[in-house]
Amino acid sequence: MKLYSLPAHKLHKMLISKEIKAEEIINSVIERIEEQEPKINAFITKTFDMALACAKKTDGLIAKNEPIHPLAGIPISIKDNICTEGIETTCASRILQGFIPPYDATVIKKLKECGTVIIGKTNMDEFAMGSSTERSYFGPTKNPHNPDYVPGGSSGGSCASVAYGGTICSLGSDTGGSIRQPASFCNVVGLKPTYGLVSRYGLIAFASSLDQIGPITKDVEDCAILLSVISGFDPYDSTSIEVDAIDYIKVLKPDVSKIKIGIIKEYFDGAEKDVVRCIMDVISQIEQEVVEISLPHAEYCIPTYYIIASSEASSNLARYDGVQYGLREEGESLLSMYKKTRSKGFGQEVKRRIMLGTYSLSAGYYDAYYLKAKKVQTLIKNDFDEAFKKIDLLISPTSPTPPFKIGEKIDDPILMYLSDILTVSINIAGIPAISIPCGKSNDGLPLGLQIIGPYFSEATILSFAYYIEKLAKSL
Ligand code: GLN
Repeated sequence: MKLYSLPAHKLHKMLISKEIKAEEIINSVIERIEEQEPKINAFITKTFDMALACAKKTDGLIAKNEPIHPLAGIPISIKDNICTEGIETTCASRILQGFIPPYDATVIKKLKECGTVIIGKTNMDEFAMGSSTERSYFGPTKNPHNPDYVPGGSSGGSCASVAYGGTICSLGSDTGGSIRQPASFCNVVGLKPTYGLVSRYGLIAFASSLDQIGPITKDVEDCAILLSVISGFDPYDSTSIEVDAIDYIKVLKPDVSKIKIGIIKEYFDGAEKDVVRCIMDVISQIEQEVVEISLPHAEYCIPTYYIIASSEASSNLARYDGVQYGLREEGESLLSMYKKTRSKGFGQEVKRRIMLGTYSLSAGYYDAYYLKAKKVQTLIKNDFDEAFKKIDLLISPTSPTPPFKIGEKIDDPILMYLSDILTVSINIAGIPAISIPCGKSNDGLPLGLQIIGPYFSEATILSFAYYIEKLAKSL
């Protein structure tokens, strides 16, 4: 077994028994990156020297028989919209090229305290707007299972890097599905936590009321370890919630037989046959009680999400004016400098969202679009509240289709937006959900199963995911 292919919990055991050194893990991952990157393009920046220096510190502790954290010496890749002190952070946008943050995001600070090793910054759709990682200034990322296909997005670089062994785990961000959908396309585990559970301090904002950072890992156990590290209250994030930190590994319950499961009727109706077959195969094996649940406002999720997300994005992205960060294109006046900088700095999709958001927030249309979307948001939240009165967790496919071909949806924004149809509602409601591998399509491409729970039900979601992971592997 190559070290790059093992999950963190196994590597940790090998480290503390002195079977391997942290430096060997890093070298294994670096070798793999060098071999795969010309084909996959998952990384924007690589931090190999820093990584080796950091791993040596862990090796020093082990040599002195000092205790180490389960993530010490373990490589992690970081989506390039999370600020890392001294390491360029671009959001895959030309407008931020050359921006070197003077501080670490809270999640990065926490990882460094554990001795986790940052191996590089990963490719993404520009400003996390997209579902295929084709919208990056640094070129598309390819799916490691078949490079003719997209890895999903916007955290496509993070998920692809975990899938091919360019890292052991990764951090992504999820505003409407950007952790779960690429996790599903790349055959890895991806969790979008409850809004407020993980600090957003240092996450470059796309749509602040929906954005959450979350773990991307090789298995559910690693996901629990990583979530335990990054979650918890942060006074630097005013939307962070004061809940006690939980060790999710300790609460991974072996017995999940009492959990009541609902399957979302509307989420199976539009999904491709292959996808439905795979999920139903797993569901037919579970011992729990399964009931059908309806979410009556499901059809409004996509328009609601794209109005709220674009409105917030248009406001958040106003700060890129050529003065404070990255790119600046000189002009004859202040206004022309703004125009030139933003015209050159932003890509097509980001411009589309800024225009859409500015329009729906404008005086004449605010009530008709933004305000209406906020009202529908309440209806969507209520659908979930009603469902969770009857059941503990909901199951659905993560994506209505298997991975699609590079270029297939790039010229049709609506078609691209529809690939988030099963994930955006979770961000609209602010609840948590995980995507775990669930078999292959007829073409041999990965498929994912989504498990959704009420606020702060991460422990239940992870326990059930742990159980399903074993079941799916045995099928
Ligand atoms: N694909 C969705 C979008 O384009 C979601 C992106 C995300 O979660 N960051 O907005």
